[in-house]
Amino acid sequence: MSDPLPAPDRARLTRIVATLGPSSRDRATVDALVAAGLDVARLNFSHGDEASHATLAALVHGAARRADRHVALLQDLQGPRIRLGSLAAVPGAVAGALLLEAGRTVRLGGRAAGGADGKAPLALPTTFPALARDVRPGERLLLRDGRVELRIESIRAGVIRAVVSRGGEVRSGSGINAPDSRLSVPALTAKDRRDLAAGCRIGVDAVALSFVRDARDVERARRELRRLGSRALLVAKIERREAIEGLDGLLTAADGVMVARGDLGVELGPEAVPLLQKEILRQALVRHSFAITATQMLESMIEQATPTRAEVSDVANAILDGTDAVMLSGETASGRHPVAAVATMDRIARHVEHRVRIDLPPPSPPAAAPHDFVFALAGAAVALAEQAGAKALLAFTESGRTAALVATFRPEVPILALTHDPGVARRLACWRGVTARLLPRQGDLARLFAVGLRRLEADGRLARGDVAVLVGGHALAPGGANTLQVARVGAKPGR
Ligand code: PEP
Repeated sequence: MSDPLPAPDRARLTRIVATLGPSSRDRATVDALVAAGLDVARLNFSHGDEASHATLAALVHGAARRADRHVALLQDLQGPRIRLGSLAAVPGAVAGALLLEAGRTVRLGGRAAGGADGKAPLALPTTFPALARDVRPGERLLLRDGRVELRIESIRAGVIRAVVSRGGEVRSGSGINAPDSRLSVPALTAKDRRDLAAGCRIGVDAVALSFVRDARDVERARRELRRLGSRALLVAKIERREAIEGLDGLLTAADGVMVARGDLGVELGPEAVPLLQKEILRQALVRHSFAITATQMLESMIEQATPTRAEVSDVANAILDGTDAVMLSGETASGRHPVAAVATMDRIARHVEHRVRIDLPPPSPPAAAPHDFVFALAGAAVALAEQAGAKALLAFTESGRTAALVATFRPEVPILALTHDPGVARRLACWRGVTARLLPRQGDLARLFAVGLRRLEADGRLARGDVAVLVGGHALAPGGANTLQVARVGAKPGR
């Protein structure tokens, strides 16, 4: 349990994702976020336009360059979020807000008027006119993150009639969740397709897909990315019942998953989230997918300079559950203490990671290729590093796959990924424990290994006499890594 080393002396393994927004869109703040440990900057495409996201992306690239780090850009697509329309014309609404009292009857769809007399059903506009086709009497509609609940009574001629079963305030644009229904709305909307193209122009490294249902949604997005010429990673946000049911397929189709606890808690109930988080993180690890744990991790830091004990425990427990990354949303996008929030996550991660050995299941060989060389070599590299007391594990990687697979074996030592491709270096910021460095291609593997070791010694990441384990492929030929070596920094080859 205890570790005599002071945590700050050791590299942090857990990755930090932070959402940029009004609180973090100036150069000084973005530089400070990167200095505090930001690994992945999230651009939330539910807000802003291409120009505002391009400005944020340029700030991140500049800050990363100045800090000599590789920071990935994660584009989070809005997806088929259904919302209330404008409430301006709804009787009783004041400045776009409306109090819905329990027992009141409302109607969604059809003519957007009615209810002025307080007796007839109040007509609420929505952004998804076909909602009536996908829902059934008895099902629930949840408004504004579940604060308000409607119970559907009847559906006639495209109009839903429902009773307010939990009252509260709704606003123009409040989200609508239909947790009991199978919605026909496509996971990739027309806006998402336009945003994907914008993300490509901006040069995002990963794309998060909201409200995915199954692997087909991810495959569609992958085809679209290929068509656009992008190599961005795909992250499936797990926030619907259908995504939980189709988790296995999603893990195969996507590169990573996000435990999107906000909507997951609305759709399945907040009490379901802790166990689902553990299960999603466990399965992601077994299936070599990276995982991000998101939403309300340090929520109180939107206002306060220090977190609650419960929030600190939440971040720590996500790390103990095996997450690759922890994510900040409002804390860094619109909060008062964006840099302190990242610094807090950094401190929690360092404290936890190096004081306990996190007991996690081993990854399974890829189902389609159970004797995959690179997978076998990655596992052997981690075992060798631990047995040999290595200071670091060097993964020489062309596509990033070798380093990513090594990461899923969760070594205690840092993984230093060496690649000639800046895009690969940035994408690897999503995996736990991986720090990427650029290294030009070399003529042969022996030279590549020697140059890599010298480069890391010159960088101060390795010291003379340190043991390192190296994994790579001959001339980085297609087919991936096939060679494993253990070396002492500064020793002549063969010693
Ligand atoms: C969530 O629901 O937890 C989430 C991360 O998604 P959103 O983009 O809606 O915040």
